Amino acid sequence: MNKQLRKAVIAGNWKMNKTPAEAKTLVEEMIPLTKDADCGVVVCVPYVDLCTVLDAVKGTNIEVGAENCHWEKSGAYTGEISADMLTSMGVKYVIIGHSERRTYFGDTDVTVQKRVRAALDAGLTVILCVGEYLEQREQGVTNELVAMQTKIALGGVSCEELSRVIIAYEPVWAIGTGKTATAEQANEVCAEIRRVLSSLYGSEAANGVTIQYGGSMNAKNAEELLDQPDVDGGLIGGASLKAEDFSIIVKAASR
Ligand code: PEP
Repeated sequence: MNKQLRKAVIAGNWKMNKTPAEAKTLVEEMIPLTKDADCGVVVCVPYVDLCTVLDAVKGTNIEVGAENCHWEKSGAYTGEISADMLTSMGVKYVIIGHSERRTYFGDTDVTVQKRVRAALDAGLTVILCVGEYLEQREQGVTNELVAMQTKIALGGVSCEELSRVIIAYEPVWAIGTGKTATAEQANEVCAEIRRVLSSLYGSEAANGVTIQYGGSMNAKNAEELLDQPDVDGGLIGGASLKAEDFSIIVKAASR
């Protein structure tokens, strides 16, 4: 019932894959396969592919995102990209706080919060990733941890700005491992995130937020995961690199 209050969004995270030429081929394969989607369809691609992909999706229902952005507007930050640079190109979405950024590139809850702030100020829609390591799940602290990540990342975000925030619950142990959370595990944590949002912004605002599951979602398991009442879409890594598989997930979210 509440599911009708929010938009399902399937977002691909291509990670460090695809040259511009390969990106063009992949997105052109996706366009006809996803054109009848009754959900949001987003591809988050490497910076060097943004121009090519933005050009290729013109006039289609596919929207484009980046995989990260810096929190400063400009300056001496060699190798970084600002949120304003992304919006100036026509980029609409940005993934913030992906576990690979947290694990390999030193992102913390504090830098995630700063990136969220910068992205929202620039007019982007944020796909905010939260999730626990396996040891944390085994210690029984998943809900507390995910609640804390969510609260810190959203520090200073207004209720109005929340309409440009998607939250992706991504258990780290399920990312790129082929180990998917069960539909019940995914739903339980997505529901916990919604409770946190409700405590911060009230139930009406919380019921309008799209909460995705991410972690080895694929053409075979998507339907069961997306059927869950608090799972409103998916952040898809590996399976977003295959047009056919990605389109099957988009169809599952469109039912
Ligand atoms: C991701 O990168 O966000 C992700 C969920 O990857 P995968 O689908 O490959 O587990």
